[in-house]
Amino acid sequence: MEKVQNLVVGCGLSGITAARQMAERGENVLVVDAKEHIGGNAYDYYDKNGICVHRYGTHIFHTPLKEVWDYLSRFTSWEPYMHRVEGLVDGQLVPIPFNLDSIERVFPASLARTLSDKLIARFGFNVKVPILKLRQAQDKDLEFLADYIYEKIFLHYTLKQWGLTPEELDPAVTGRVPVYVSRDGRYFQDKYQGIPRRGYTEMMNNMLNHPLISVRLNTPFAQIKDQISWERLFYTGPIDEFFDYKYGELPYRSLRFEFVEYDREYFQSGPVINYPCNYDFTRIGEYKYFLRDQSAKTVVSYEYPQPFRRGENERYYPVVKPENAALYERYLQEAASLPAVHFLGRLGDYKYYDMDKAVQRALLLTNTLKGE
Ligand SMILES: Cc1cc2nc3c(=O)[nH]c(=O)nc-3n(C[C@H](O)[C@H](O)[C@H](O)COP(=O)(O)OP(=O)(O)OC[C@H]3O[C@@H](n4cnc5c(N)ncnc54)[C@H](O)[C@@H]3O)c2cc1C
Repeated sequence: MEKVQNLVVGCGLSGITAARQMAERGENVLVVDAKEHIGGNAYDYYDKNGICVHRYGTHIFHTPLKEVWDYLSRFTSWEPYMHRVEGLVDGQLVPIPFNLDSIERVFPASLARTLSDKLIARFGFNVKVPILKLRQAQDKDLEFLADYIYEKIFLHYTLKQWGLTPEELDPAVTGRVPVYVSRDGRYFQDKYQGIPRRGYTEMMNNMLNHPLISVRLNTPFAQIKDQISWERLFYTGPIDEFFDYKYGELPYRSLRFEFVEYDREYFQSGPVINYPCNYDFTRIGEYKYFLRDQSAKTVVSYEYPQPFRRGENERYYPVVKPENAALYERYLQEAASLPAVHFLGRLGDYKYYDMDKAVQRALLLTNTLKGE
């Protein structure tokens, strides 16, 4: 039987970070992944036109966490990039999250002025105000604005994205949709934002480039689990799958990406355009914006939300509902009886992580193992 100190299941950002950490402690690591490429959902590649395409939809790195930014900066330099999203609302492209400029674009000038003045007077400038708070302001205009944002930006998008009404999903979510009383059109306000200068895959390859790390692709855990003995297992695959679904299946939402190449320099006016009310897709991402790739052609992806069906498509977003949290909790209790097995990552923790949070989680976990 083959022996390793650390077996890492899943070669996404979580597994890669854990692998690097253990290797830097002087321990050997084998990373296996069922897919034919490294990087999990953050995988990207250069297409024939020299455009860096994100295989699983647009990925923008942003974080307030200096320690995560500094950590990843060991493996890549960054292209400064501040993300902007526009949405098609009543035939107008408006900044998302909805802000003072969005108000100006969709409403007649006098109404826009009234709404902006009231928002600033009531809440101040450069603040995000949840629409629930607008509703409670006991002001007809602000209530109208809250209803407008709920209906045009949130309701139909949520129905498409999740196949559920916002109330069915998690009633608390509805009230949290913000209007941004600001002219800051950026999608994120984090201090650190950027795209790895030569792509995410190159950054992750650099992380894996260590003499104590070996990687086997096209290798599902089930295929090797009886052939390899390990001292520690880092499992970034689905936690319900690990336990053979003994308590039932954890639900996810999936997506179908339709990639289309166009024979023109640009397809749309920005990197991501949301379609909250029209069409069956939720958004279109255009990849050449991220690293300013130069080409006479362009490539975009249309995102069609779908239910996750095992064996047919991929798990993307855990469905945040109390009964799913309870089911996950049962698996977590089961996991506690296996002290040498560490579950992490968005599938292991059944939690939506942005990339920075996935890295942070792996750093924190491996740091707590230091004395072991
Ligand atoms: C559509 C979409 C857009 C996103 N956009 C952003 C964004 O803009 N910014 C941002 O910060 N984050 C974004 N994210 C989140 C980002 O993709 C995750 O933070 C990141 O991928 C988490 O890495 P992970 O290693 O936990 O999971 P994954 O990347 O999913 O990696 C898990 C790996 O485990 C492998 N695996 C699973 N089961 C097994 C098994 N049994 N045997 C072997 N291998 C197995 C899988 O093949 C996969 O490669 C986005 C996610 C999605 C779905």
